[in-house]
Amino acid sequence: MIALARKYRPRRFADLLVQDHVAAALRGAVARGRVGHGYLLTGPRGVGKTTAARILAMALNCERQDRARPSGEPCGECPTCERIWSGGANLDVVEIDAASNRSVDDARDLRERAMYAASQEDRYKVYIVDEAHMLTREAWNALLKILEEPPPRVVFVFATTEPQKIANLAAPVLSRLQRFDFRRIHAAAIRDRVVQVLAAEGLAAEDDAVTVIARYADGGMRDALSVLDQALSLSEGALTAERVRQALGLIGDEVYAEVLAAVADQQAAPMFGIVDRLMASGADLVEFIGGMADLLRALLMDLTGADPEGLTTVQRDVIGAARARLTAGDVLRMLALLTEAETSIRRSANARLVVESLLLRWALMDRTVSLEEVLRGAAVGPPGTGTPRPSVASPIERPRSGSDRPVSSAPGPVPPPDAGGPLLVGPLTTEALRSAWPALVERGKAQSHLFGAILAALSPTAVEPDQVRLEMSQDGGPLLEGAQARLGAIRALVTEAAGRPVEVQVGAGVGKVARADRPKRLSDNDIKNQKLGEIRAKDPSLDAAAEALDLEIVE
Ligand SMILES: [Zn+2]
Repeated sequence: MIALARKYRPRRFADLLVQDHVAAALRGAVARGRVGHGYLLTGPRGVGKTTAARILAMALNCERQDRARPSGEPCGECPTCERIWSGGANLDVVEIDAASNRSVDDARDLRERAMYAASQEDRYKVYIVDEAHMLTREAWNALLKILEEPPPRVVFVFATTEPQKIANLAAPVLSRLQRFDFRRIHAAAIRDRVVQVLAAEGLAAEDDAVTVIARYADGGMRDALSVLDQALSLSEGALTAERVRQALGLIGDEVYAEVLAAVADQQAAPMFGIVDRLMASGADLVEFIGGMADLLRALLMDLTGADPEGLTTVQRDVIGAARARLTAGDVLRMLALLTEAETSIRRSANARLVVESLLLRWALMDRTVSLEEVLRGAAVGPPGTGTPRPSVASPIERPRSGSDRPVSSAPGPVPPPDAGGPLLVGPLTTEALRSAWPALVERGKAQSHLFGAILAALSPTAVEPDQVRLEMSQDGGPLLEGAQARLGAIRALVTEAAGRPVEVQVGAGVGKVARADRPKRLSDNDIKNQKLGEIRAKDPSLDAAAEALDLEIVE
C-alpha cells in the first residue's frame, strides 16, 4: 500500500495547499521564461517545500509543456513528471539531502556536476537541496562560485526550516537567492484535505477523528497524512478519534474532562485515581500537561468571548460545562500553576509527584468558603479581633457570583432576599443610594458572606451623573483590597440597583482614591477586562501567562 502522504502529494502548483503566493510566483516564472538560478524555500516541516521544488523541476522539464508558450504548470503525468515527482533517478533533477552530504568533497562534486548541461537542449538541470542549513561553509563557498556565474539552464532550490542559520553562515549566497516563505497549514485546511483524501479512498471517519489528526499535525500536511495512515493500519472499519489517539498514544479527552470537573467541584480525592490511570496506561505526563494547557487555553478563550477552533465534541462539552463554574481568573490561575509544573517536571526525577501536586493545587486552589468562615466567625466580636486576620481576598478567589456569572448559581441556605432589579425608585442621588444600600448589601451577602461584609463596610459618599463613589469605613480597612478586587461585581450590583449603567470608585475613608476611572459605558466585556486587569496587576506571574496567551486586556 502506498503511503497516503506520498499518494496524495501534489503534482501541480495549483494543488499546493495554502502556499498560493509561492505557487503563483513560481508558475509565473516558468510561464514567462524568467526562472531564477537560485531559490530558497523556507518554512516549517511538512508544509510542501520539497514538493514545490519538485513541481518546479517538473514544470521546467515536463514533456508536454509547450516550449513556445509554456503554461507554467507541469502535466504531472508524463514519464519525466512522474519520475521527478516520485524522486526517482533522473539525469536532470538531482536531490541532495544536506543532512547526510556535508563534506568538502561533496561540495566539489556538486560544483563539477553543475557544470554539465542538462541532458537535452530544452531541459533544465535542477538541484534540490533539502535541509540546506546543514551544508558546510565549504559547500556554501563552492555554491557561491557557481551562483556568481551560473551556467545556463541550471536552477538551485534550497529548502530549509532554519533560514537564520544560512543567513549566519552564507549571507552572500542568500543575497543571490529568491526567497519564498511557506506558511504553516491552518488546521481547517488540513481537516478539509484529510476529509478529501478519506473520500477519495472510500473510507469513513468520525468528525472528531479528523479533528484530532488536524490538531496533532500542527500545521504540517505530511504529518497529517502519516498519522492517518498509521491510524488506518491499526484496525478495520470507520476511523474513530479513539483509534487515532491509540495510533498516536495520545491521552483521551475524557481524562482532561474529568480533571476539570474535579477542579470545578474542588474535589482533590479523584486526582490520585486519575494520575494512577495515566501512569498505568503508560501516558507521557509532559504530554498530559501540554494537553491540559491546550484545553485551559480554549476554555479561557471561550470565557473571554473568543471562539476556540478545532475542538472535538468532547472538548466542546467540557468547556460548555466548565463555563458556568470557572471564571477567567480561575483559569489564569490554573495556567500559572501549570506553567510552574511544566518547568519543574523537566527537572524532577518524579514526574508523577509534580503532576499530582499540580492537580491538588488546582482542586484546593481557592477555598473562598473557609476564608468566609473565618470572617463570619470574626463578625461575632469586633471586626478583626480574636481571629487571625485573613489577608483579605486572594485575587483569584472565586466569587460565589460575580459580574461574569449568573447570580442563580449562588448556593447556600439563605434564599436571595429579593428578585433583583432596580432598588431605587427616583433619580440616583447619594441619599437615595444610601437608603437602598442595606438591601444592596443583602444582595451581596446572598452571593457570598465575604462579599456581603465588604459591601456592609462601604457606604456611598458621592454620586455624580454616572459615577458613584464608595468609601470604606475605618473598621473595614482590611476589606479595602477585597473591595477593589471585586470592583466589577460591585459595579454590577450598583448598576442593577440604579437601573442604569454607572461607574464605581472605591476608596479609603480619608480621601485616598483607589481608582480614578473615567466615566465610560459599561459592558460585560469591560467588567471582564477590568477584572482580568486587576488580577494581572496583583500577580505578575499571571501577567506572563496572559501574555503567553495573547490575551487582550484593555487598560
Ligand atoms: Zn509532464
